[in-house]
Amino acid sequence: MGIPTERFVEKVDDGFLCGICSEVLKGATLSGCKEQHTYCSECIKSWIPSRGTSCPACREKVTESSLFGLKALDRIIGGWRVKCEHAGAGCDWQGSFADLASHLTDDCLYQLHPCRFAHKGCLVQVSSKTLYRHLEYGCDYNESICPRGGRDCGGEGKGIYLARNSSEHFTVCGRHK
Ligand SMILES: [Zn+2]
Ligand SMILES: [Zn+2]
Ligand SMILES: [Zn+2]
Ligand SMILES: [Zn+2]
Ligand SMILES: [Zn+2]
Repeated sequence: MGIPTERFVEKVDDGFLCGICSEVLKGATLSGCKEQHTYCSECIKSWIPSRGTSCPACREKVTESSLFGLKALDRIIGGWRVKCEHAGAGCDWQGSFADLASHLTDDCLYQLHPCRFAHKGCLVQVSSKTLYRHLEYGCDYNESICPRGGRDCGGEGKGIYLARNSSEHFTVCGRHK
């Protein structure tokens, strides 16, 4: 799949759209036909083994080894201005397409990440916007420290327990009588 056209701030010329997915070329790749029809790398690579060995646009015979990546075109598209994928949710970031990935991993407040307690079993996806609320009220795997006796509480686990086990803790909590 390519990059959705509505992500770009300026209107994208039809010449930069993939003939398979109709989105903006992602990993622009020549099929190897004489007309130089160009597709997303993923689109044409999954087309050739599953749908036959002809260029989708002109039916000329092409093979996996006739494919040719156009990095220069990727660099041009990489410089175009895009909106964040979470613009609809409220993110107002705009920048070059090449910088979008690092915006999403490093500073988008709306990008979903696994909860920081995923390694313990939490399956919830959170954004920087919802993380605090989730940890405070919604995460079953966040550790709590006994509000009665703190870490020195005589209960099981010495006063540190998972939020979802709090009622269990209170039944054994030494200071919670
Ligand atoms: Zn495509
Ligand atoms: Zn072609
Ligand atoms: Zn964003
Ligand atoms: Zn969680
Ligand atoms: Zn306790």
